[in-house]
Amino acid sequence: MQNNAQSHVFYQTRLHRPRLDRAEGVYLWDVNGKRYFDGCSGAMVSNVGHSNPRVLDAMRRQMEKSTFGYRLHFENDAAEELARRVAELAPAPLDRVFYVSGGSEAVESCIKMARQYAIARGEPERYQVISRYPSYHGSTLGALAITGYDTLTEPFAPMLRTMPKIPAPTCYLDRDNLSDAERGLRYANMLADKIEELGPSTVLAFVVEPIGGASTGALVAPDTYLPRIREICNHYGILLIADEVMTGAGRTGQFLGCDHWQVVPDIAALAKGFGAGYVPLGAMLTRADIVDAVLDHNAFQHGFTSAGNPLACATGLAVVKEIVEQDLIANTRTVGAALKSALAELMDEFPFVGDVRGKGLLLAMELVQDRESMEVLPPAMNAANRVVDIAYDRGLIVYARRTRGGNSGDHLMVCPPLITTLQQVDEIIEKLRDSLRQFSSEL
Ligand code: PMP
Repeated sequence: MQNNAQSHVFYQTRLHRPRLDRAEGVYLWDVNGKRYFDGCSGAMVSNVGHSNPRVLDAMRRQMEKSTFGYRLHFENDAAEELARRVAELAPAPLDRVFYVSGGSEAVESCIKMARQYAIARGEPERYQVISRYPSYHGSTLGALAITGYDTLTEPFAPMLRTMPKIPAPTCYLDRDNLSDAERGLRYANMLADKIEELGPSTVLAFVVEPIGGASTGALVAPDTYLPRIREICNHYGILLIADEVMTGAGRTGQFLGCDHWQVVPDIAALAKGFGAGYVPLGAMLTRADIVDAVLDHNAFQHGFTSAGNPLACATGLAVVKEIVEQDLIANTRTVGAALKSALAELMDEFPFVGDVRGKGLLLAMELVQDRESMEVLPPAMNAANRVVDIAYDRGLIVYARRTRGGNSGDHLMVCPPLITTLQQVDEIIEKLRDSLRQFSSEL
């Protein structure tokens, strides 16, 4: 009998891409021998580059010892050592690490930890989790309930307990007379208004991407924003959950995105660059008092079979060591600054590049009809995806998403691995400039 099996991918089911053969450093090769610059680290995942010999070596060594030991049966050294390393890099007092296998699982875990903590504290009426629109927090139903991205949530609307949202601080679209600092406070204060509207005693947590990811295209709020959010959460006794799935593990030039503002969340989600594409690995990071309250009350009613397995943790440990020993966070700041200014220079040639933003190597450019009004390009044009296709043909991989929460707005994420050199910035820019020229000629 004929076998018609196919595997399916995220979002686009009819993407015709060549098959991957091998990858090394910042490059990938397809089976035809064509080389691609990984200009977005997959999906902001491959932070330490591909086929890193020290990570592969650590994986091999762990594989020869054990790959799986169920966590109810055994502790494992790699899991404990990785937790110690993470606690050294993360701000105090975040030193409790709960492993998962990806970003959606990490976000679900944060929400469930927050909820059980409220129950343990004698506040079972707290259940509403406020998040932002647009935002992306994962594909599972719980993570989708706090996601603000219409095309992803709409098919599942009747099945979701859709949670309340406040607008993301898209200050670059505002045409008012406020200063940046005032705008930051204005958006942050929307959280207080929402809490008042919902009834403060019913609100459990606020979930935020400290720097926007794929949903808003590396959106950086004014410096007043996140500290004010922290104050509001403290004032109402609600937990601040940082979704650091994309921003964490050094991507933005600090270990956590929140570190740019010295804001410490109560709970944080890590994934993507934490396993860096070598293994599926994520984590929920939180404080001892939260974990202890939950464990003492009724244990944490949650967990995943594969979580914390020795192979995943040994790999995560090698990735984190690589970040520290190769000084990749400092490199991210230097190379990110150079890449960001080179991207901004492209605005001189291409009037449809409306904005360049981001921190470290979490960078994006938004494509618009008109830079003054920031009006979007016609959605049917599918502009960012068109640029992605052109760049792909030219051997540069970048990442396209919609910017305005629905099916409109275009941005390109340019987020190469944290090992990228200054010379490689020139390579990215050259390919991107050629791609934008071709796109421009098609307009
Ligand atoms: N949160 C954020 C901020 C993300 O960017 C993503 C992935 N794009 C997720 C959660 C979900 O992660 P995963 O795809 O690993 O489940």
